Amino acid sequence: MARVYNFSAGPSMLPEEVLKKAASEMLDYKGSGQSVMEMSHRSKIYQSIIDEAQSLIRELMNIPDNYKVLFLQGGASTQFAAIPLNFMNGSGKADYVITGQWAKKAFAEAQKYGDVKVVASSADKTFSYIPKTTKEDFRQDADYAYICMNNTIYGTVYKELPDTGDVPLIADISSCFLSEPIDVSKFAVVYGGAQKNVAPAGLTIVIVREDFLGKARDITPTMLDYKVHADNGSMYNTPPCYTIYICKLVLEWIKGLGGLEKMKEINEKKAKLLYDFLDSSKMFRGTVVPEDRSLMNVPFVTDSDELNAKFIKEAEANGFVNLKGHRTVGGMRASIYNAMPIEGVEKLVAFMKKFEEENS
Ligand SMILES: *Cc1c(COP(=O)(O)O)cnc(C)c1O
Repeated sequence: MARVYNFSAGPSMLPEEVLKKAASEMLDYKGSGQSVMEMSHRSKIYQSIIDEAQSLIRELMNIPDNYKVLFLQGGASTQFAAIPLNFMNGSGKADYVITGQWAKKAFAEAQKYGDVKVVASSADKTFSYIPKTTKEDFRQDADYAYICMNNTIYGTVYKELPDTGDVPLIADISSCFLSEPIDVSKFAVVYGGAQKNVAPAGLTIVIVREDFLGKARDITPTMLDYKVHADNGSMYNTPPCYTIYICKLVLEWIKGLGGLEKMKEINEKKAKLLYDFLDSSKMFRGTVVPEDRSLMNVPFVTDSDELNAKFIKEAEANGFVNLKGHRTVGGMRASIYNAMPIEGVEKLVAFMKKFEEENS
């Protein structure tokens, strides 16, 4: 059986090494006589898995000791509500930068809980750039400022964080998690769904500064109270056990490659292959301004809807799947997360060249 190159925005490819390791441990995890899927989350052996995942993510992301790492469920979308419930508790104000669908959804959810302001937006040009902001744009009495770091649908990324002054910064890093080093100490909270770059669907990781915890509103459901999860080592209830185990294997894989600096180097190489081709092609072009281009999600178009459709169809027949752009943008999008091998991008570019020759 031939494996395809899967360019899906998520759930997405996992490293083949990780899948093989999981397969080899499927029936009997380290002599326990059971699969990780079957284990009690309260068992010693499972505790060693979640502890290892925790310590690896701390090591790889260089997470300071005064931050908690929470392994939760509900997807990034659940955190859209959990964030205001946990943190919008001083002035009741929060400032959002709208850089795409996910930021917009987070903003809409937060509006249910307080005085939420749009600080800047790139909606005027279909979110094809990151809007510039200055410290003065942020209300200095806001409880937090919110950004979506990498915009999965539109293919933009923050290369430089906004200066929010003293306002704590919260970022959705779902689609750039572990893709390159980030300075966690610059944020009060970073969080994301794991299904883009970290693990299969079902796990949401929240990294939160300790002094920011413990101020949840009274009405906050227990399951959305980050302090409850922090106090219980992400074991207040049954965690997504198997997904955390795969997360651990992915973290081991990244460590084996040489960590996040090395991961970044590889990701830059892959993205450059694709962007260089898009910049030289007469048929295909990228949709994002060069300075804000994402390393992870690369949207591109031709000038014709028919040609786009033809390309997607032929690509699929050749083993390049899920290249269709998001329904709100059209065209194509290649998501080239950590697990996409460089050969996958090289072969895609070769295929695009051939398609261009044949169709012009
Ligand atoms: C995929 C994605 C989400 C939504 O994640 P769910 O886990 O499906 O709720 C939110 N934000 C970003 C940036 C995403 O890429």
